[in-house]
Amino acid sequence: MAGIEVSSTIQVIVALIASALYVATYLSFVHLLRFPRNWCSTSLPESLTTGILAALTVALVSLFTDSLDRPALVIMVAFFGVVSYIIAAPAFAFRPASRLVEFLAKHGDYAGLWLFGPAFVVGLAIPNIKLQAVLATAMAIELTWFLRQRWAGRRRPHYLLNDHDLSVLNTQAKGDLVGFRRRHIISELELVKGTVSWRGCGKMTPPCPFNLYVNRLGLNTAPCCREHMKDLTHHVAACLSEMGVVHWLEGGSLLGAVRENGALIDWEDDIDISVLLDHDMTWDQLAAGLVERGARDGYFVDLFEKEGFVSISFDAPKRWPFQWERNRLRGEIRADIAIYRRAISHGEDVLERGSHKGAMPATESGGYGVPREIILPTSTVAFLGGDFACPHQPEAYLRILYGDYSKVEYTYVDVGPANARAEIDAVSDPPVQ
Ligand SMILES: [Zn+2]
Repeated sequence: MAGIEVSSTIQVIVALIASALYVATYLSFVHLLRFPRNWCSTSLPESLTTGILAALTVALVSLFTDSLDRPALVIMVAFFGVVSYIIAAPAFAFRPASRLVEFLAKHGDYAGLWLFGPAFVVGLAIPNIKLQAVLATAMAIELTWFLRQRWAGRRRPHYLLNDHDLSVLNTQAKGDLVGFRRRHIISELELVKGTVSWRGCGKMTPPCPFNLYVNRLGLNTAPCCREHMKDLTHHVAACLSEMGVVHWLEGGSLLGAVRENGALIDWEDDIDISVLLDHDMTWDQLAAGLVERGARDGYFVDLFEKEGFVSISFDAPKRWPFQWERNRLRGEIRADIAIYRRAISHGEDVLERGSHKGAMPATESGGYGVPREIILPTSTVAFLGGDFACPHQPEAYLRILYGDYSKVEYTYVDVGPANARAEIDAVSDPPVQ
């Protein structure tokens, strides 16, 4: 009798260890998702860590001292495959993705709960307490995720759509707003008795998945997201100025400042700012300064040293262990800060970055660069109600990136929605901030 009790206690302890291993695998996996979410290749050491944790979980569940539980092994491998696909879909849907990934991303708040029925049946059919513990843990995590998203989403404030937002929305919906909302699950769009409004995002709500709405559906950036992008731009520029970092508006943000009279491009999906690192401002100093100020002012800072950029997001940092679950969200309001360094290329002084940007030419050392005098010394330009640092020759800089930048190009917007909105954009006045 005592032997049976000891054996049961050991089984329960091992089942708890299996649950803990699943939680560790889950946290490691959601941490890993920051790479596809930021359009980077995944880190090999971090991928290996996640893979080893998953393998240990599977081994612990299916191996016994004298046998192998084959059904449990098959179920665990299949379960990991399906649940990781569901969890990762929103991070991969930041770029155009397969129909299945797009579908799962749309339902990302609750798709994990679809596994509840199969997990319950398997748990009853296979008398393996370790398997039952892992499946129960996984379902508890999915349920908690769903409830937290649902709870946070209740606090979304109302925003009005301006005339241009409405024109673009009606054009893309071909006049059928109800069908368009249902087809694309645009839960932010509120249609009540003929009035159209937007249940917007805030600091503590889930973000609008506006990369989908803007890039795939061809809508204008939502009014809430525009407002938060403005706040974020002011925060980032103020931090960089406070730290004495040489910086300038980059890409679409500079294009908005110059071509759109100081406003965001209507279909803007992020803020771009670049910084110059040298012996006076190293990566470590920049990273420490931005992390400290992000924590102070309530912005989430993510560092990508190898890739040479920092992303700063509008949403408030969450406490451990939930901080990396944000990578399951379908959208975010983000400023991408790209790193430049001084270099010589073909005998010319250039400022060079590691990643491709627009049509910026390649340098001798394998990066991408701009002649130094086009950027330095930086000048200022009016943007979003303030004065921001910009390249010394902003028009020349934009020509390097985009050629004839006065011609509207719907970068990152799918071809069909871009063509649909071209006509109304051509007749509308520049947006006003
Ligand atoms: Zn929003």
